[in-house]
Amino acid sequence: MSDQSLRMMCPNLTCRKVLSVPEAARGKTVRCKQCGTNIRVPNKATEESPSSKS
Ligand SMILES: [Zn+2]
Repeated sequence: MSDQSLRMMCPNLTCRKVLSVPEAARGKTVRCKQCGTNIRVPNKATEESPSSKS
């Protein structure tokens, strides 16, 4: 099984906790367990150019 997780920093400037969120949380919203801020998890790790697909 893939036990990959993403690391995101809490956008709350007074918190800034680094959260580990599971791959399964992509496209969803997770809550920072430290400050309770809802954080949206991006669908893809690399979303630099949205129209790079052919
Ligand atoms: Zn937080």
